[in-house]
Amino acid sequence: MPFTAPAIKPFQPPRRTLMGPGPSDVPPRILEAMARPTIGHLDPAFTDMMEELKQLLRYAFQTENKLTFPVSGPGSVGMETCFVNLVEPGDKVIVCINGVFGGRMVENVKRAGGIAVTVEDAWGEPVSVAKVMDAFKANPDAKLLAFVHAETSTGAQSDAKALAELARQHGALTIMDCVTSLGGTPVLVDEWGIDAAYSGSQKCLSCTPGLSPVTFGARAIAKVQARKTPVQSWFMDLNLVLGYWSGEGKRTYHHTAPINPLYGLHEALVILAEEGIENAWTRHRAMHEQLKAGLEKLGMRFVVAEGARLPQLNSVYIPEGVDDAAARGRLLKEFDLEIGAGLGALAGKIWRIGLMGYSAKQQNVDYCLKALTAVLKP
Ligand SMILES: *Cc1c(COP(=O)(O)O)cnc(C)c1O
Repeated sequence: MPFTAPAIKPFQPPRRTLMGPGPSDVPPRILEAMARPTIGHLDPAFTDMMEELKQLLRYAFQTENKLTFPVSGPGSVGMETCFVNLVEPGDKVIVCINGVFGGRMVENVKRAGGIAVTVEDAWGEPVSVAKVMDAFKANPDAKLLAFVHAETSTGAQSDAKALAELARQHGALTIMDCVTSLGGTPVLVDEWGIDAAYSGSQKCLSCTPGLSPVTFGARAIAKVQARKTPVQSWFMDLNLVLGYWSGEGKRTYHHTAPINPLYGLHEALVILAEEGIENAWTRHRAMHEQLKAGLEKLGMRFVVAEGARLPQLNSVYIPEGVDDAAARGRLLKEFDLEIGAGLGALAGKIWRIGLMGYSAKQQNVDYCLKALTAVLKP
């Protein structure tokens, strides 16, 4: 069969400024790293790089967990890796829902054969620690607590430390989604006593999408090893994946690792280490303060109360009389600027302006405010 679309040429993406809920702007250094020669996934030079990558990820998660590595797949695969390994059929899991991603956790629990007990809070609110306490009282047999640290659908941050403490008091393990928080606001896996956490490469780490850093502590590993039923996912079964990612003994083939994207993640984490993670947190906060001042000058109101606001994800109500799609369309067309739309119940009502990773810089803040001023002008 002949190829009948000769007009198709190599794809040249437009140059955008990415200030939505992810992906964020990828720095040239990372793109250059990804363009380096592809080598084999069992090449000793590559496996040395993998060891560095695990070390760098431990720094990002602030953990000494040996079992810390990037899952091949986007944040959703990291999420599923945590649930399919830690939830056994019949396990009761308390799941906090205060936005889109908590809802997905429920779906994961059910598909792993678990029983989800949900604790719901309004979108834009952090998870209520008091409600979770009540849920543990009513369900003393709960094996796990799952929550989203930084709800990207609303811009609210929850008190991970208090939630993890509650779980521990009730003998339950914690699964924490820190896809949007990692690298942007403190994620202290060991200090908080988190048992399992997953993140994503394309938010505050500013790498390309498609990799999901995960970390598992000793209690989580013990639960996986004590399973009576095999993990129903072959691809995500930690016992199998570790034959490749574990540094001990001989590495064996499990799946072909995404070689070049892993170069990119390595570079992203070297950049984070060079800056210093505390400095990265401070930068996100400082850029948020500036953006906030500018947005308020434009008369925009924040969705999330001051104390629970994520600096890297600014949710604001769309000003009255402004057409959501038309305004975002103009930002993209006239300014090559992407901001995020509202999701679910907040669709058409809010905008989500990201200041993630490399996007959290003065130039972007100024540019975004300039573009919004032009588009909102009556
Ligand atoms: C983006 C995101 C995910 C999903 O990550 P993907 O890379 O899109 O699969 C999960 N949880 C949160 C909080 C997110 O922001």
